[in-house]
Order: sequence, then structure tokens, then C-alpha cells
Amino acid sequence: MKKILDYEEMQDLLSSLDKDIIVKEDPIGFTNFGMPIDHYSYGHGDYHLIITGGTHSSELITNIFVIRFMEKLSNKEIFIDPNVYTIDFIPFVNPEGTVIVTSAIRSLIKRNISCDAEQTYLLTFYRNSRIEGIYYDKDENHDIKLEQWMFRYATPECIDDKYLELKNYLRGLFKENDLPRGCMINWSSNGRGVDLNSNLKESSFIERVKSGEKIYAHNHLSNIRRDKLGPLGCPYYDRPGEVERENKALLEFYEKINKEHKLIGSMIYHSCGDIVTYLDDMSLKNPFVDNYSEDNTMANRKIALKYADVTGYKLDPKEIYTTVDSYIKTFYPVTLLIELGSVTATPLSQFMDLDIPGSGEGFKHVYPKIIESNTKAILDVLPLMVLNYDERS
Ligand SMILES: [Zn+2]
Repeated sequence: MKKILDYEEMQDLLSSLDKDIIVKEDPIGFTNFGMPIDHYSYGHGDYHLIITGGTHSSELITNIFVIRFMEKLSNKEIFIDPNVYTIDFIPFVNPEGTVIVTSAIRSLIKRNISCDAEQTYLLTFYRNSRIEGIYYDKDENHDIKLEQWMFRYATPECIDDKYLELKNYLRGLFKENDLPRGCMINWSSNGRGVDLNSNLKESSFIERVKSGEKIYAHNHLSNIRRDKLGPLGCPYYDRPGEVERENKALLEFYEKINKEHKLIGSMIYHSCGDIVTYLDDMSLKNPFVDNYSEDNTMANRKIALKYADVTGYKLDPKEIYTTVDSYIKTFYPVTLLIELGSVTATPLSQFMDLDIPGSGEGFKHVYPKIIESNTKAILDVLPLMVLNYDERS
């Protein structure tokens, strides 16, 4: 089975799901260029769990994991009691970004290739980005990267005219901000070029951006600047603290579910690292709350521990309190941020399904391991989340 799906293919898959099991609700909002931020629900129980993917669009594995999980529910391959739970799925927090990055992928990796051919592209991309990781220390390394060079013909022109407004905006942005050739493959931001997770007034980048400092991303992305609108890292469009529509919609959605139902927690998927991040030590500086009850901390810890136990992922209780995800974690207990995949280099490496003799365990069958272990982890933590919720309230 081929692993990569572009935005249209993911939409087709979603519309093929059993409509009695997975219900398409009204969108939680619309993006700047008018794309819906879709919401699907499963079940009708009063205990709600929110699951989101694709905050960073280059972390394509997160959209696909969420959608494959929904498919398993639809096929009855897995079961969650619909009378007890409601699962709220937001498979595309950042649909414009997903269109950009998957259009870039399709400029090289066509839909009709074989599984084996797809795997060779994934491996090539992975190796190229690893080489760039090695070269990172060389001088002022802001050259075009090997893995970007693979996608050097991925320009805004490869975006379908269905998204003409977005396409035109990007044509201008590439010129104005002199974005590196091929960087559409690294696109994590929304269509305006704002990084949704950095998009809050507490972002650690705000002061540095305002001061006019040139801030480069790290490792194999060291030619991308985070201080201007582009593929990743830029915290605001026009003025510090200006909230992008995707974030506004998401925060309002959390608030509504929490007010009207029993919100037992949420899972925010990112990639990569095989890490479960959760809110633990509130003695660290958190700009959002002065005190956070010990009950919440215990609950977060318990669920994160269970999730890490099932997946074999590392636990990360440390937290930088300057992201939108950390804001959500603070206000809605038992929110886990899960970094899918043991290999770096989004958007492609997490889809590798290889067993090359001599390669390390983390490199083997990356994709099926992500899907299987995280599916199991969600099923296993759900009852514990309910118990925890009832204890706290
Ligand atoms: Zn991310």
C-alpha cells in the first residue's frame, strides 16, 4: 500500500468513510484564503476527546495518522464505545499548509508510482537531509539543501488553480521574501506564512523578530529564516500577538467543547522524535496561569506515562511555555503533544517502511510502527482519561 496521500486524496478517503460512524460536522472555522477547517465526530457520549493533526503541515504523517485512525473506526477494525465517548477529529488544523506541502510532493512523487518507487524517494529524501545535518556546522551554511533541490520545481505554480488566491499570494511572498528554492517541501506555516504554533504574543521569537535579528532554522533547514513570513517559525503576520484564523477557530472550539461537555483531554500530533510531551512542573515559568492544581499535574502525568508505556516513546515533562500548544495544555488538562516517528526530515521520512540489514531499530518499518502503536495508545488511555476526569470533578 502506498503511504503518501495528498490533500485531495485525503479528502476522498474521508468522504468514503461510513457516514453513520464518522460524521462530518460544520467546520470549526475558515482560513484566511477561505478553506474550511473540517471537524468530524465519532460517537455521542458525553466524554469528549479532541484529536488534531497537521498544525505544522510539513508533519504530514500527523494528518495521515489521524485519518487512518478514523478509517479504522469506520471499518470497525477498532472499537470505541460510542455511547460513552465522542471523539472530535480535526485532521487538518492548517489546511492551506497541507495543500502547499502536498502540492510540492506531487511535483516529483506522482500518484501513479509503485510502492517500491515511493519508498526509494522517501529514502533518498531522508539520506539527503541527513547529509545536510552533517554539513550544518560548515561555515555560514545557508545554501540550498539537497532535499530541497529534489523539489526545486515545486513553486507556487504547482498549486491547483482551485486555490488561486493562495497561489497568487505565495507567488508574491516567494519574490518579496526571497524564499529559498524548493522550500515549499518544508512548508509548516499556514498560507500566509505564519507558524501556527508560534503564533501568540508570548512567543519566544517576538522580541527577536521585532529587533530585526536574522533567525535561521537549525540543522538541515538552516537556510530558512524564521523572522519573516515563510515556511516555518514566523510568529505573526503584521503585528505581534495578532491571532491567525486557524488558532482562533481552534481555541474557540476547545472552549465550546469544554463548556458544553466533559472534555477528558486532547491529543495534539506533531512529528518527529517519538516523544510524549505533557504539562508537569508548574514551578517553571508559565505566562498563562499562576497556579495549576496538583490534581491536574497528576492527571497529565498518569496519562502521559500510560501513552509512553504503550508506544515506547520518551516522556518529556519539560515545557517551553511560549507556544499555542502549551497554552492549550495549560487551560485544558490532559492534553498531550505527541511527536510521531523516530526519524527526522518531514514531510517524507515518517512514511518509510524498510528493513535494511544493519540499520538501527528506529529506522525499521517507521510508518507501520507509528500507526499501530499510536492507535493502541489512544484506545488504552481512553478509559484512564475518564477515570481521571471523574476523580478531578
Ligand atoms: Zn510540529
